[in-house]
Order: sequence, then C-alpha cells, then structure tokens
Amino acid sequence: MYTATSNNTTILSGWRKKLVFSIIWLGVFKKLLVTFKRPTLIFKAINHIREFRNKHSIYKTFPKIAVVDRRVFFNCNVNGWPSNYFYRSMLIESRKGLEMPISNLENIKMVQIAFTKKCPLNCEHCFEGPVLNKKDTLTLEQHKQIVKKLQDAGVSMIEFGGGDPMTRINDLVEILNSARKTADFWVYTSGFNFTEENARRLKKAGLTGVSIGLDHYLSEKHNAFRRNQKAFDWALEAAKNAKNAKLVITATICVTKEFCSMENLFNYVKFAQTIGASFVQILEPRAAGNYEGKDVLLNSQQIQIMKDFFIDVNTNPVHADLPIVDYPGYFQRKNKCAGAGNHYLYIDTDGYINSCPFCRNKKTFFLDENHEESIESLKTEGCDLPNI
Ligand code: SF4
Repeated sequence: MYTATSNNTTILSGWRKKLVFSIIWLGVFKKLLVTFKRPTLIFKAINHIREFRNKHSIYKTFPKIAVVDRRVFFNCNVNGWPSNYFYRSMLIESRKGLEMPISNLENIKMVQIAFTKKCPLNCEHCFEGPVLNKKDTLTLEQHKQIVKKLQDAGVSMIEFGGGDPMTRINDLVEILNSARKTADFWVYTSGFNFTEENARRLKKAGLTGVSIGLDHYLSEKHNAFRRNQKAFDWALEAAKNAKNAKLVITATICVTKEFCSMENLFNYVKFAQTIGASFVQILEPRAAGNYEGKDVLLNSQQIQIMKDFFIDVNTNPVHADLPIVDYPGYFQRKNKCAGAGNHYLYIDTDGYINSCPFCRNKKTFFLDENHEESIESLKTEGCDLPNI
C-alpha cells in the first residue's frame, strides 16, 4: 500500500486503491441493476465491462489512482469519479456487449476540439503549424453548438486544444458557463496566460483539468523546443496556478529521439511530481504539422524503452509516489487505435471531424447532419502507429 501526497494531488495504490475500486464497482452494479434489471443481462454486462477494462489497463487493473479535489482519476483522458456521468462509458460498453443499437456519436468517449488557431508559440513539433495564427473561422456561437451537440449525444469528456485555447480565455469561460454539467472539461495549453485569476475563473466555470505541454525538465531544452525563452516559466506558473485552483494537472511531453532514454523519462516524471502533476502523458512524435516529411518516428529500441518505462513507473511499488503515466501509443499497439472514430474524435480548428490531431483525414463539418457516416468512414480508415 502507498499513499503519496504532493500538494493538491494524492496518489493511491495498494489496499486504499482497491477499497476505492470496490466502492466504484458497487456503483456500477447499482447502475446496471436499475438499467437492465434482469440478472442474466447484468452478468453479461459486467463481463463486457471487465473485458473492456482489461484491454485498456496494465495487468487487468489500474495500479495507481489520483485524488484531486475529492475526486478520483485513474487516467487523464477518462472522467473522474464521483460524477453522474462517470458510469456513462460503462453503460455504453454494456449496451454494446448486449448487442443493443448505439450510434457512432454515442460511442465516442472523448472529443478534442481545436478551439483556436491562435498561439504565441511555434513549437518544433506543432501539429497545427501550417494553420497557426490564421484567422479563426468558428464563431463563439458555433463553438457552443458543438459542445451542445456533443453533450446531447452524451459525450462526457471534452478537451479544448488549439492553437492555445488560453488566447481566447473569455470565450472559453463563456462556453464552460453555458455548458451543462454532464462532462469533464480539460484545457491543453503551453501555460500561456494561465494566470492565477484565469485558473480560478476556469475552475469556477467547471473546468476539471489542464494538460500542460512540458517537453523537458530542463528550462533551456524546453525553451529551445518551444522556440521561446519564456515557455518554461509559463508552464511552471500555469502548474502553480492550476494547483492552487484545485485543477487536475497533466504534464504532456512529446518524447523525441534525442530525449528518449530511461534516465530522461524518470527525471521528467520526478520533475512533474514537483510541480503537482497527477499525470504524465507521453506522446510519440509523428510526421505531421511542423514535423511533416521529417524523420521523427521513434525506432523499435526507443519504443521498447517507452513501454518498459510505462510498465515500471506505473506498477513497481518503488515508484508508487510518482505521477501516473499515460502512454496512448502503448494501447494503440496493443489493441487498435482508440481514435479514428472508435472512442475518440478530433474536431479541427474549422469544425471538421478528423481521426486525431496527426491523422488528418478531414471529413464533414461537425454541425452538419451527416456526422454518423463520417465517423463510420474514420473507423474504416483507421489511424495506426507502425507496429514496432
Ligand atoms: S503551444 Fe501547442 S499550438 Fe502552440 S505552437 Fe506549441 S504545439 Fe502548436
């Protein structure tokens, strides 16, 4: 058993984590009982939920969980508990297991909205590089409609990216204020404009967490990558303000060939712990945006380092106090891509549906009626990483 507290976040493992999971399972059972009533259906639904969990966890469990502001989080891309909408994904999986009809949009668990083209940076790896700082085409009203349409379909995890959404802080606050409280909302930012006041405004309006782009634990390396001398200070200031506002913090890094060593990854996660991060999200560089046509993909040895690190840092009791590491590439190789209309959608800066920020297979405008067909074709096309 281990309990580690770093200011606003407590990482639980061992029996404390098991106790929390027992309570959550009890809640799942109650929901299933109310929804399906018949024991045979409930039994089948539970089996399907278990299968789903086994596919998306390490050794069929989540070794650590984070507690922030009296809510529990076991992945930075999954709803926190408790909340009325926490059980939604499980109910959707149950319905699938019971072969009940479900629309493509209902099946989506998380949506990332590229909220704006504006950003004061031009990072080495930016996937929006080609459109950065062009004129925004979506109005505030359209953004509200996008969020409403997602919430009408029950999507309960909505993330605002960009560009940097903090360049449109007033619009962001207005959208959060007008949205129903049926989703967790997150912001992806470099830390720009994430002042103490803005952090508090966002929290008050209903923001759950912030993913801060932090690409090195050394300021000079991060600033070089972000091509701005203030970038490291912004990121740290944002973390401090997010922590004080009781927001969940994820430190997100693009792990380049140059960075990818066990030593660097552990130094990074230890540094993330000092700034109050509950999660570290490790992403692989893709040849898109500013990296288009460049030889940036990690090789097989580097992927192996990422996998070994991911398993060790999350399961070894020696590291029980460190932030939880999320590595979407691990599950993308183990299962199939969770993006590409399967559980995740990307809505680009013009409001069009895509597989993800990297696989730009632009489909229809999200506010149009024919999104079901678009999602279907994303699912067919897929969006796979090289299987190494
Ligand atoms: S902060 Fe994000 S949107 Fe802005 S340039 Fe960097 S990667 Fe692109």
